[in-house]
Amino acid sequence: MKITIIGTGYVGLVSGVCYAEIGNQVTCVDNDKKKISMLRDGEIPIYEPGLKELMDINMNVGRLHFTTELLEAVRTADLVIVAVGTPPLSTGEADLSFVESAVHQVALAMNGYLVIAIKSTVPVGTNVRVKQWIATKTKHPFDVVSIPEFMREGSAIFDTMHPDRIIIGADSKRASTLLFELHRPLSDQIMLTDIHSAEMIKYASNAFLATKISFINEIANICEKVGADVEEVALGMGLDRRIGSSFLKAGIGYGGSCFPKDTKALIQIAGNVEYDFKLLKSVVEVNQMQRWGIIEKLKQALGTLKGRKIAIWGLAFKPGTDDVREAPSLEIVAKLLELGAKIRLYDPVAMDNFLRYLGHPDIIGFEDALEAVTGCDAVCLLTEWEVICEINLKQVAEVMASPIIIDGRNVFDYESVKKAGIIYFPIGRSKPM
Ligand code: NAD
Repeated sequence: MKITIIGTGYVGLVSGVCYAEIGNQVTCVDNDKKKISMLRDGEIPIYEPGLKELMDINMNVGRLHFTTELLEAVRTADLVIVAVGTPPLSTGEADLSFVESAVHQVALAMNGYLVIAIKSTVPVGTNVRVKQWIATKTKHPFDVVSIPEFMREGSAIFDTMHPDRIIIGADSKRASTLLFELHRPLSDQIMLTDIHSAEMIKYASNAFLATKISFINEIANICEKVGADVEEVALGMGLDRRIGSSFLKAGIGYGGSCFPKDTKALIQIAGNVEYDFKLLKSVVEVNQMQRWGIIEKLKQALGTLKGRKIAIWGLAFKPGTDDVREAPSLEIVAKLLELGAKIRLYDPVAMDNFLRYLGHPDIIGFEDALEAVTGCDAVCLLTEWEVICEINLKQVAEVMASPIIIDGRNVFDYESVKKAGIIYFPIGRSKPM
């Protein structure tokens, strides 16, 4: 199949590489000239494990191409997939201007029947609007299909090659058959549904996962007060198959480019039809509060934070990615600066992205986790990178001014921190030692 993908971000690039890997001819289009030039040179503009290797293989066999020329790429395609960003507006609603602009360009480029699939996460009803936008610009026949994306950054290649399910929202047999054939090598679990339901499945799935996270975080907060250990509680809960163990990890809450924006967008989608989504509003509020727990624990450990040297381990919103969009680290570091702390940062891949969002004279970045904590009054662990989880705690205790770890991801166990002589503040695991 000849596929053109518009947008070579985390979703578009990974999808393009994986569709090429299963034998399709893929052209990835982006209006960012620098990005396309890097990609043509075989460099990837994001950090995603395994992506570069698979991209090289498919470029070398001539199945994967990159261009800024949308017109030619659309004219030669059987299928155009739109994977541009839908960032949040200040109201919480999804900004559809990138989708609108991309589909306008597609409509003007079309020269015959075309299937246009929307992979970007868009509010319910958007695909119907997309159809109207295209219809005003072209006389050629076309179908619009919703194919929401569920991959996770950090394991995006695996998720795309082995998805739990593929959702295809279509109102045309011709178009749904094309999408079904494309995805058949990837999954036995392909669900065909209507367009509105497909759009809603994406938001409902993310909102549900966010709810699980906020739920266990509130349980963690109660555990601290009643002397229970949230790690034990989550383990015990997860053994019940009706509950399941995933997304029951207490910590500083979710971040990233999807959960924060998609939960807020769903609240707006509900609000637009005069439905007050009370549960999801609380999920968002709990998530926001949860990150301040780090500051509270620091104050508990150190008293005032003014002039204190605080190290931060991990800046990305999760391990395995360089993405810092809506990462808790951004707000936590900004708050610490406001309180007069001096910040020492360490992240194996997300440092540059972080400093692009939040540069400050009182921030110093380090390339080594141990160096970053040297001489510090405390360290806050915000992303559970393997290199951090496996650090030698004895050495950490030796180089710090005071050996205090605020563990926002509960990665260490009591015994090892105690042995190393560290004062440890985890989340939801009864009293600090
Ligand atoms: P991104 O911001 O990383 O990438 C978007 C790309 O689109 C950019 O490279 C941009 O230059 C390009 N672009 C914008 N307008 C264009 C146009 N008119 N023509 C050509 N290129 C254009 O975004 P992302 O993280 O890949 O997310 C894309 C969509 O997928 C969003 O709706 C997001 O919610 C959804 N999604 C993301 C993830 C994720 O983990 N990142 C997971 C599931 C779904």
